[in-house]
Amino acid sequence: MSMKFTKEYALEADAQDRLSPLRKEFRIPQHKGEDVMYFTGNSLGLQPVKAKQYIEEELEDWANLGVEGHEHARRPWMPYHENFTKSLARIVGAEESEVVSVGTLTNNLHLLMVSFYRPTKNRYKILCEAKAFPSDQYALASQARFHGYEPKDAIIEVAPREGEHTIREEDFLQVIEEHGESIAMMMVGGVNYYTGQVFDMGKLTSAAQKKGIVVGWDLAHGVGNIELKLHDWNVDFAAWCTYKYLNSGPGSIAGLFVHKRHHGLSDIPRFEGWWGHDKSTRFAMPDQFVPIPTAEAWQLSNAPVFAMAAQRASLDLYDKVELAELRAKGRKLSQYLRFVLAEVSAQTGQPIEVITPSGESESGCQVSTLFPGQGKDLFNRLLAKGVIADWREPHVIRLAPVPMYNSFTDIYRFGETLLAELKNA
Ligand SMILES: *Cc1c(COP(=O)(O)O)cnc(C)c1O
Repeated sequence: MSMKFTKEYALEADAQDRLSPLRKEFRIPQHKGEDVMYFTGNSLGLQPVKAKQYIEEELEDWANLGVEGHEHARRPWMPYHENFTKSLARIVGAEESEVVSVGTLTNNLHLLMVSFYRPTKNRYKILCEAKAFPSDQYALASQARFHGYEPKDAIIEVAPREGEHTIREEDFLQVIEEHGESIAMMMVGGVNYYTGQVFDMGKLTSAAQKKGIVVGWDLAHGVGNIELKLHDWNVDFAAWCTYKYLNSGPGSIAGLFVHKRHHGLSDIPRFEGWWGHDKSTRFAMPDQFVPIPTAEAWQLSNAPVFAMAAQRASLDLYDKVELAELRAKGRKLSQYLRFVLAEVSAQTGQPIEVITPSGESESGCQVSTLFPGQGKDLFNRLLAKGVIADWREPHVIRLAPVPMYNSFTDIYRFGETLLAELKNA
C-alpha cells in the first residue's frame, strides 16, 4: 500500500496495524470531545489505564498493612524494584544482573560518574556531544569541576559541521582517534533529544574503548524507542528516565545499567547506601558495606513504590509486545509523518525541513521539523486545535508519533490541521 495523505489510507493502515489495540490501554487527553493529536510521548508518555489501579492497590495495602506491607503487600515493597528487572533487561538488551530500576536520571548519571569518571593527570577529559540536553551538560561540567578541572578545558564537544544539523559519526571517530589518550570518559545521548539523531552506539563504544575510554550513554530518548543491545555493545554504563517513551508518569522512577564486568569489584569508587548492600545481611545493619554483586549495588534507598506502581502498568504492556514489531511500527509512523509533512509543504508552498536523519539506523520515532519563516504563533494555533507537540526556538517543532498509542489517523488529522492553519495564515 503506497502512502497517501487521505483519511481512507490512514484508517486502512490502522486496521492493518497489529499493535493498534494497545491504544485503548492508554488515557488519551481530550480536546473539544475528541482525542488530542498527541506527539509528545518523547517528553511525557501518556498514562496507561492500569496505572491508577496499580497505585491504588499500593495505597490500599499501605492503609491495611502499614509497615507489614514491606513483606506482605500483594507485591511486597522490599524487593519491589525486582519486579522490573526482567522487563528492563529485555528493553535495553542487558543481562538481568546489569539493570536496576532506581533513582532519577540526572541523579543516576552522577552516581555512575562517581564510579566511571576517574580522571588522572594525563587522562581527564570528557567527550560528549555539543548541545547535549542541559541537565547532562550541567552534570558533566560539575563532575569536571568536582575533580578540580575547568569544564572549558576538560570537556570536548563534537558538534555538527557548519550548516548541518546533525553530528557526523566520522567526526566523533576522528576526535576519539586524535584525542583518545587524554579522554577519561565519553558520555553521550544515544538518541539526541533535539534532532532525534540516533548514534551507532556499538561502533562508537568500541572505538572509544580501544583508546582506553570508559563509555556511558544517556538513554532518555533511546529506551522504549529504538532497539538497544547494551550488553553486547560492551557499554560500561547507561542511565535512562521512564516518563518519556516508557510512559511511567511525571518524574517517575528511572533506571541504570552497569556492565557485569564491573560488578562485585571491591576497588570501584561508589557512593553507597543500605539498598546497595547484600540483601541477606541488610537488616543485621552491619557497619561494613558489602555490595550486591549486580547493578543493584548502585541503589541507595528503599524503593519508591507509588512511582514504581505506575511503571508496572507501563512495563506490563511492553512485556506483551515484540520490541522489533514496536520499532517497526514506530518507523512506519515516522515515515508517514514525513510523507504528510512533504504533502502539506507541496500544497501550501511553506518550506518544511526535517532535520532528523531518515536512515533506518539513524532515527527513532521522533521527527524534528523546521518551519522557516514561522514563529511560535503557528505552534500556538496548532495547540488551540488540539495538536500537542513541542516547540523549540527559533522555529523547530518536535513531533514523536509513538508506536504504543499513536495511530496513522493521528498523523492524518495533524496533517489536515496543519494544512488548514497554513492556508489560513
Ligand atoms: C529528559 C532528559 C533528562 C531529564 O533529566 P531528569 O533527571 O529526569 O530530570 C536528562 N537528559 C536527557 C538527555 C533527557 O532527554
